Amino acid sequence: MSAAQDKISDLFVIGGGINGVGIARDAAGRGMSVTLAEMNDLAWATSSASTKLFHGGLRYLEFFKVRLVREALIERETLLRAMPHISWPMRFVLPYHKDMRFDSDTPTSRLLTTFMPWMKGRRPAWLIRLGLFMYDHLGGREILPGTKTLSLKGSAEGAPIEDRFELAYEYSDCWVQDARLVVLNARDAEARGAEILVQTKVTSARRDEGIWVIETTDQRSGETRSHRARALVNAGGPWVGQVLQETLRLNSREGVRLVRGSHIVTKKLYEHDKCYFFQGEDGRIIFAIPYEQDFTLIGTTDAEHAELSEKPRCTDDERDYLLNFANNYFTRDLSAEDVVWTYSGVRPLYDDGASSATAATRDYVLKVDDTGGAPVLHVFGGKITTYRRLAENSLAKLVPYFDGMEGDWTAGVPLPGGDFPVAEVDARIAKLQDSYPFLTPKSAQRLFRAYGTEVTDILGNARKSEDLGRDFGAGLSEAEVIWLMEREYATRAEDIIWRRGKLGLHLSADQVAALEDWMQNRHAASAA
Ligand SMILES: Cc1cc2nc3c(=O)[nH]c(=O)nc-3n(C[C@H](O)[C@H](O)[C@H](O)COP(=O)(O)OP(=O)(O)OC[C@H]3O[C@@H](n4cnc5c(N)ncnc54)[C@H](O)[C@@H]3O)c2cc1C
Repeated sequence: MSAAQDKISDLFVIGGGINGVGIARDAAGRGMSVTLAEMNDLAWATSSASTKLFHGGLRYLEFFKVRLVREALIERETLLRAMPHISWPMRFVLPYHKDMRFDSDTPTSRLLTTFMPWMKGRRPAWLIRLGLFMYDHLGGREILPGTKTLSLKGSAEGAPIEDRFELAYEYSDCWVQDARLVVLNARDAEARGAEILVQTKVTSARRDEGIWVIETTDQRSGETRSHRARALVNAGGPWVGQVLQETLRLNSREGVRLVRGSHIVTKKLYEHDKCYFFQGEDGRIIFAIPYEQDFTLIGTTDAEHAELSEKPRCTDDERDYLLNFANNYFTRDLSAEDVVWTYSGVRPLYDDGASSATAATRDYVLKVDDTGGAPVLHVFGGKITTYRRLAENSLAKLVPYFDGMEGDWTAGVPLPGGDFPVAEVDARIAKLQDSYPFLTPKSAQRLFRAYGTEVTDILGNARKSEDLGRDFGAGLSEAEVIWLMEREYATRAEDIIWRRGKLGLHLSADQVAALEDWMQNRHAASAA
């Protein structure tokens, strides 16, 4: 028996998306021994492809999902306080026009059609105001400003959109760098004793005398390893069903519904820092969001994604749908040539039998199976916003199997780099710029927003940019790349340019190839 087989950990987590790392961090902080395996890079799948909002989900109110919305609304500020570097408040502008028509099939629209047939599918202003009133008051709002009505005529918010929109409602939600959220949770889990394995696929798991025996394969070296654990968590995201049926070979009727969502990115479409919430004639909504300083992010779509083995990508139809949707609002006519990047992700929704992809529940469902002795917890659905609560609820489900398990602890505990008050962000960015005058204002902002108080661990005593080593372009220094490889599990250039940050929007193909070479050489040298 190998050393790895000797050790029996409390929990083995399959999947390094937000739900897997959130559960691993929570469990490790309760003193449990935890191993997590991710078959690719952390946040490689859905958790780097979201719209990146900590939000209650205004539109879910039309589905009467009050519990989900309330939990998420309360969570926004809890999370903002714990990570004021990688998340920040945003204002959303919802333009309104009385003749806007919708063909929506929500419980609310069906009620309206029954009791107010003369509205003919229109979403009346009072309904939007009622929704926003609930949004403001359902729970937990201390930092974020409330809703207000906005006259668009002659205003900065009205400038980029068509004149027929004279009125808008403005409300609050938050932005989060989703993939950084995943990495920081993994780092904090590791700091609390968890073992985090990236590029490590779980190939099988079986119960043996009340213990899980898990086989993994290192995707780079091909090396296989056995692990043993008292409990298993299946946080495989879109693969949750595949893990359940093929990797664990369990019989279950639980199903996952794969719903693809795509985003397009254009050069910055307007100057102010607020987002737009656009309503479409099909009853759906999309956002247009200031993105990575120089860009605008537009999304998302809802499309059934039948083939799990097919990497999700934004189809031409989805791109055109988003362009047409936005063109109904913006004065500027956008075309395919304006799109500089697209990305897509698959929502692993619990299959609740809903008729349409848009209507399928966004709530999470946790299922424990202990028929063979040792428990396995399957995670279906969820949102980035509710990952911390999902982790707490997951641990609550495992309490019966761990005598004396410690209680909830994560609310109010900052993630790495987030140990400062929300209100101090601007002052801290200004101080960083003072301490390192060679940084451009954009770089100072990017670095602080990525690393928070840990940024000085990367920049050290540098007095000029050359002190940070090689410059890979767009302000990416050798010192930062080393930090990402040594401290943030990055193994390839794409991990750095699309998940630890979004410098891929600025780097050329040659610069990316040079970064990849440099990383592989460094990896080989350290392995030698
Ligand atoms: C288009 C879109 C927009 C969204 N916008 C928002 C938003 O604005 N706000 C919000 O709160 N939520 C949003 N969400 C929802 C949110 O992104 C997801 O609910 C969340 O990321 C799911 O995380 P996860 O950990 O369950 O799955 P994933 O992030 O997909 O992680 C699962 C991981 O498991 C790994 N894995 C699978 N099988 C194995 C195996 N055998 N061995 C090892 N590893 C394995 C995979 O590689 C993967 O990395 C959005 C989702 C989409 C698709």
